[in-house]
Amino acid sequence: MRKPIIAGNWKMHKLAGEGARFLMDLREKLPEAEKVDTVVCSPYIHLPLLTEAARDFPVSVGAQNMHFEDSGAFTGEVSPEMLKDILVEYVIIGHSERREMFGETDESVNKKTRASFNHGLTPIVCVGESLEQRENNETFTFVEQQVKNGLDGVTEEQLKQVVIAYEPIWAIGTGKTATSEEANDVCAHIRQVLKDTYSEDVAQAVRIQYGGSVKPANIDELLSKSDIDGALVGGASLEEDSFLKLVEAG
Ligand code: 13P
Repeated sequence: MRKPIIAGNWKMHKLAGEGARFLMDLREKLPEAEKVDTVVCSPYIHLPLLTEAARDFPVSVGAQNMHFEDSGAFTGEVSPEMLKDILVEYVIIGHSERREMFGETDESVNKKTRASFNHGLTPIVCVGESLEQRENNETFTFVEQQVKNGLDGVTEEQLKQVVIAYEPIWAIGTGKTATSEEANDVCAHIRQVLKDTYSEDVAQAVRIQYGGSVKPANIDELLSKSDIDGALVGGASLEEDSFLKLVEAG
């Protein structure tokens, strides 16, 4: 049985103090770590405060990006080693907003995914098609290629730790959720790709999240599907009440 994983992606929202208060307020309310993995992914500068606030209660902190090198002349960048040093556990890699606006490619996603394992970070690797690709029936082939390229060279043992987030671009921040069947079909396809490319063990171990307008009203339906193991949530992760409801559904 794969443990559900509910991750909030705050994107470029909240001030650091607000983020820390958000976690402190959830302190007594979050479900046990055995039931569900709860993750909050904040802007970089909030991370030290959040990892401090999250000490001793069942929530993990994640970054929304990182560089793949340990250190060097990369102005403005943050390394995996730096994240690990401040007790960050997860990192979102290849979010569609970074692919669209900041030049992220499958190649950089792959370098970052491999680098995350050098420092014991768990990558949440994002894939997903545009509306045009969906309308042209290219969803499966496009997502398959993103998965294969992104995970190339990752060892089988590492692969079992990977979290994949399937986020159709047309469903992000639009209020348009993929139907649970549409979402599950792509997640099942990703699992089949993992089986064909690696092994049944890997396919069964990898957790696949759906992301795109997830909210308390649709989380149960999404999580009831065979191949959806959790959610990567933008808007609905910003409010404590709705985030808590999502985690409780996990
Ligand atoms: P929304 O939940 O706001 O649609 O965002 C999804 C997302 O991009 C999470 O990474």
